[in-house]
Amino acid sequence: MPEIRHDQLSDFSSIDQQLNSGASECELCGRSNGLILSIKKVGNYIKISKEEDADWDVKVIKNPHPLFDENFSGEWGEGPFKSEPAKGTDELIVIGAAHLPFHNLSVQLIAEGLYAAQEDIKMISSRSRITYVSMALNSALGTDHSDHPAFSITGLTFIPRSIINEMRAFKDEYDNRASCPVCEIVKAETNGPRQIYRSDNFIVVLPWSPARDNEIRVLPILHSKPFQKLTQKEIDDLALILKLTGSALYKKSGKDYGIAFRLNPVKRSSLFYHWYMSVFNINNARDMYRENLGLIIMEKSQSRDAEPMAKVFRESFTEYVKMSTVKHD
Ligand SMILES: [Zn+2]
Ligand SMILES: [Zn+2]
Repeated sequence: MPEIRHDQLSDFSSIDQQLNSGASECELCGRSNGLILSIKKVGNYIKISKEEDADWDVKVIKNPHPLFDENFSGEWGEGPFKSEPAKGTDELIVIGAAHLPFHNLSVQLIAEGLYAAQEDIKMISSRSRITYVSMALNSALGTDHSDHPAFSITGLTFIPRSIINEMRAFKDEYDNRASCPVCEIVKAETNGPRQIYRSDNFIVVLPWSPARDNEIRVLPILHSKPFQKLTQKEIDDLALILKLTGSALYKKSGKDYGIAFRLNPVKRSSLFYHWYMSVFNINNARDMYRENLGLIIMEKSQSRDAEPMAKVFRESFTEYVKMSTVKHD
């Protein structure tokens, strides 16, 4: 345990797991357990070390409360009870030693964080069972992460249904019209009323039909370059854009926000897919998993163990049925 369960009707999957320990002290400050990489900019170079470096800019660590782990067991199930062990990886890229909101970090630091994410995604992708690596950021002001802004990088042994469905739509567009929905938006929105900013590599736009309050999309202009293959120049460009997007969204809404990265699957040919980012108000990691992956993290109190809940509901039914039986007699 824990295991992943896939719902046969909706796009959602669920996992029964605690997200954090509820500890009031920061668990990441000075943490040396579970270090994967330590990154530091020295002159024009980025120094990567696998050893603890007291003077770090960005750290890649194992999530102290992983949702997925190679050692997790669990049941494999088919048919209406589709399930699998929550095997995979769950890592955090801690961007900076200070407790600051994401948009207050320097562009340089954000670029180092994005670079670390590229390296981490490449490492996780090379593991045999991993088929999808997801990435998301919370702004570090929210209800359960008032500490360091961090990218959450999750390696999964399945492609979430919410991603598969989006890929299907892209594939249809590709097959039927030899086109791509993101390329079409980039073309149609350039210099239009919903364009916020455009650089050589990215365009920042408001969606035509937003799915969430204050949603902003950051779209790569080039179709066929996965996030992991962005050059240093493109990463620097993206770092500035994400900082300004976060800052603008925070200024307008006064609320926490997150960035969902809709990335290509790592081992499947997905030339038709065009990755992009969505920035919107959100204030905890649980909601971000739901928004970005369609993954529901069940609270411990709402265990998927059916028996106690079914008992309560059955009693409620029985009570009513008894009452109406008495009435009609
Ligand atoms: Zn801290
Ligand atoms: Zn495209």
